[in-house]
Amino acid sequence: MLNIVLFGPPGAGKGTQSQIVMNRYNLMHLSTGDILRNAMDRKTPRGIQAKKYMSRGELVPDELVIGIIGRRLDEYLNKTNGFIFDGFPRTTLQAKEFDIILAQKQISITLMIELEVDHDELISRLMKRGQLCGRSDDQDIDVINNRINIYNQSTRPLMEYYKAQGKYVGINGMGDVDEIYQRICSVIDKEIQK
Ligand code: ADP
Repeated sequence: MLNIVLFGPPGAGKGTQSQIVMNRYNLMHLSTGDILRNAMDRKTPRGIQAKKYMSRGELVPDELVIGIIGRRLDEYLNKTNGFIFDGFPRTTLQAKEFDIILAQKQISITLMIELEVDHDELISRLMKRGQLCGRSDDQDIDVINNRINIYNQSTRPLMEYYKAQGKYVGINGMGDVDEIYQRICSVIDKEIQK
């Protein structure tokens, strides 16, 4: 199985790249942000719980997202070549619990690929996305800054966790979509050929 964690700050392009990378390698894309937004739109109990955190740009509670990922893994494990995890894990607790869940299913993370993007570029991409697709958390500069700060404080340190496992690769996330896609594919292809 090929299991990729696509990592990077809000606006780094994880969702965009996940869509094209999943097609090339026949992977299943699991975005906790998309799953939570869908639950929010359908007003499910989990969606209602998540909404108050998401609208402020805060992380939703670990147990909630870990539960979501566990259920999706069970659902798709036997139907795919592997997964792209986008927006998960986001805290050390999530990463540790994730490793336990994966080990129970006798699978593991192959690579964590970080998309590295300048702060100013992130702000400009998020503001543009806010205008285009109307995500409310992309329309308020305070919420955007809060998400980037939380990323730097709680999520970015996770790279050390994956570095210690020899699974971390950082790539330049600046440039056009296809250029970045090629960089990601060359990292994955190198890993596959090992
Ligand atoms: P972005 O990366 O642009 O912030 P996402 O769609 O990945 O967008 O996430 C949107 C929101 O969903 C986050 O701000 C957070 O509130 C919530 N969220 C998504 N994934 C997680 C996670 N793994 N842990 C906690 N909260 C999450």
